[in-house]
Amino acid sequence: QCPWGAPNTTSISCSLADVMSEQLAKELQLEEENAAFPEVVAVAEGPFITGENVDTSSDLMLAQMLQMEFDREYDAQLRREEKKINGDSKVSISFENYRKVHPYDSDSSEDEVDWQDTRHDPYRADKPTTTPRRGFIGKGKDITTKHDEVVCGRKNTARMENFAPEFQVGDGIGMDLKLSNQVFNALKQHAYSEERRSARLHEKKEHSTAEKAVDPKTRLLLYKMVNAGMLETITGCISTGKESVVFHAYGGKSATEDKVIPPECAIKVFKTTLNEFKNRDKYIKDDYRFKDRFSKLNPRKIIRMWAEKEMHNLTRMQNAGIPCPQVVILKKHVLVMSFIGQDQVPAPKLKDVTLSSEDMKKAYCQILNMMQQLYKECNLVHADLSEYNMLWHDGKVWLIDVSQSVEPTHPHGLEFLFRDCKNVSQFFQKGGVAEALNERELFNAVSGLNITADNEVDFQAEIEALEKMNEDHVQNHGKKLSMFSSDGDPPIYDE
Ligand code: ADP
Ligand code: MN
Repeated sequence: QCPWGAPNTTSISCSLADVMSEQLAKELQLEEENAAFPEVVAVAEGPFITGENVDTSSDLMLAQMLQMEFDREYDAQLRREEKKINGDSKVSISFENYRKVHPYDSDSSEDEVDWQDTRHDPYRADKPTTTPRRGFIGKGKDITTKHDEVVCGRKNTARMENFAPEFQVGDGIGMDLKLSNQVFNALKQHAYSEERRSARLHEKKEHSTAEKAVDPKTRLLLYKMVNAGMLETITGCISTGKESVVFHAYGGKSATEDKVIPPECAIKVFKTTLNEFKNRDKYIKDDYRFKDRFSKLNPRKIIRMWAEKEMHNLTRMQNAGIPCPQVVILKKHVLVMSFIGQDQVPAPKLKDVTLSSEDMKKAYCQILNMMQQLYKECNLVHADLSEYNMLWHDGKVWLIDVSQSVEPTHPHGLEFLFRDCKNVSQFFQKGGVAEALNERELFNAVSGLNITADNEVDFQAEIEALEKMNEDHVQNHGKKLSMFSSDGDPPIYDE
């Protein structure tokens, strides 16, 4: 027996698991914070931000708007929760303290256990003396320090009430439960990350754009459209392709009287992952409409140019009366257009729909017509025409996906046209349309050229010869722009 009495074993026990979970929680939280608004950092050091018309301040504004909207939603959810819990009970509780006051308030150092803060300590009213305001209280062997296990434990338990209401803390608050600081901190961190997670889930439900499908910058762009009231809601993703993601949205109100936003919209987001677009260089690089601009552009702008191209091409088609989506707005790499389909269900692609032989024939005649109109009136070659990019809606065929469309004078324009003709002929011949022209006849019918070769190889060779001739012609006569106005007549391939 030791004369000095039993050694004081008040050191707070702390398991490895506690430490681990706390560290993990911190790491996770840090990760989340970094992931939440990485573009704010990008604004400061992004290599592309130095361009003339890039408004960096607006990104910050967007981030703030997003945060504001987020807070608003969070508070609305709190209010719902509060209402649900209170019902029509006479005694009601308030979640006022959980409301988001300011988005940038959440400095984590403030959130550390603060022993002076007893605002929400229910024990304070009952036994004010057990709340040590200074380091210790009492006399002799009754001395109580602020590190007293029991007191701290109770206070920690009481503080769990500060966690968001949806965070399940169990019955601990009602019991005389003592939480060690480690456990409390771990729980607190967990509560915060839970709060964020559930907020994210909630956000996902209301705006399915929050999918991983788009990057944060695009998300902000979309949020801005919704916030501005231009779009009512973005309901979900229609298609995820290699180069674009398409969403469905309900149209909102237009800021200007003269413009009407369609009740349902399709949002085509051109992917900003650059490498996907590498193989498309040949379309745009040789398109004289974009030639001067191409060389000076960074990849980000090139992607915007795809969106811009689609917009211009759709507008031309619209003006010619070709059934196609109507452009609503273009913002950077995001193109909003009218939705082909109804009640969130997109019109089926021609490849997916089974048409009666009558409709099949009707569709063919329509497409032949559209291809001619496209060439002659719009001065365009679709360049990706197939049963994948034609939708069947309202008893007719609609053309979509025209970002890669080029003018016939494009150095490969006629080759693209021939490829389109091959796809169309094959589809309708297989589909049993007796009237369907073969690809060479179709090519001549669309272009107005008269290539007489009766086999594909020779035909192809003649096409290339024509293209070469046009190229030389351009070389000799300087600028193409002076020869063909960009919205004028189709080119004349004279002998
Ligand atoms: P991609 O380059 O990814 O093929 P598309 O423009 O062809 O881009 O769009 C992909 C898919 O999204 C289409 O096949 C179609 O199903 C759907 N889609 C695109 N635009 C619309 C629209 N305006 N209305 C309805 N569905 C559309
Ligand atoms: Mn497509």
